[in-house]
Amino acid sequence: VFVALEGGDGSGKSTQARLLGDWLRSDQGHDVVLTREPGATPAGVRLREVLLSNGSDLGNRAEALLFAADRAHHVEAVVRPALERGAIVVTDRYIDSSVAYQGAGRELDGDEVLRLSQWATDDLVPALTVLLDVDPVISKVRRARDASRGGEDRLESLADDFHDRVRAEFLALARRAPHRYLVVDAGLGADQVQQLIRERVRQVLPV
Ligand code: C5P
Repeated sequence: VFVALEGGDGSGKSTQARLLGDWLRSDQGHDVVLTREPGATPAGVRLREVLLSNGSDLGNRAEALLFAADRAHHVEAVVRPALERGAIVVTDRYIDSSVAYQGAGRELDGDEVLRLSQWATDDLVPALTVLLDVDPVISKVRRARDASRGGEDRLESLADDFHDRVRAEFLALARRAPHRYLVVDAGLGADQVQQLIRERVRQVLPV
């Protein structure tokens, strides 16, 4: 079973992915692979460094291709082998992040960015995508906090309208295929968000 967590910067995605992974493993007894994009493999870590390094000015198309390259390698090296042995794979970011950031954010054609990722992954679609929808005001406060802690996030300084476009695109993707999405208000407490995620994840677990 393949589950993706998506959401804007400061949505609490990584915390929720970790809590979900712990619950699936310790409480539900599943074989769980918790992974992330970009940067889940040694080569991915190097791609992540290139993508996130300060002052990296690759240009939008090169950036989109490197995110897709990371994703192709991630799926082939980590995700598919884990799914084939029956594990539950929880990924912190997947294709929707590219459609939202490289597509809507960087103003590339969203459908082209989507097709690039579909090709990169040989059409691997999650059974469930959890979208942590974060209010722009909360996102801004959390991004500023992360930046002051010296986080590697390269996007905290981008204009608010960039983050507004990213948010709107995530929501539009969820509306396209509501049966395989859960949209959660990331402004709720972390425990409450996690409870909502667990309830929905239960429905896609093997019985
Ligand atoms: O989720 P994480 O914090 O690891 O993402 C690292 C940075 O890369 C964030 O600033 C995120 O917004 C950005 N990103 C992006 N396009 C993607 C995935 C992540 O711009 N496809």
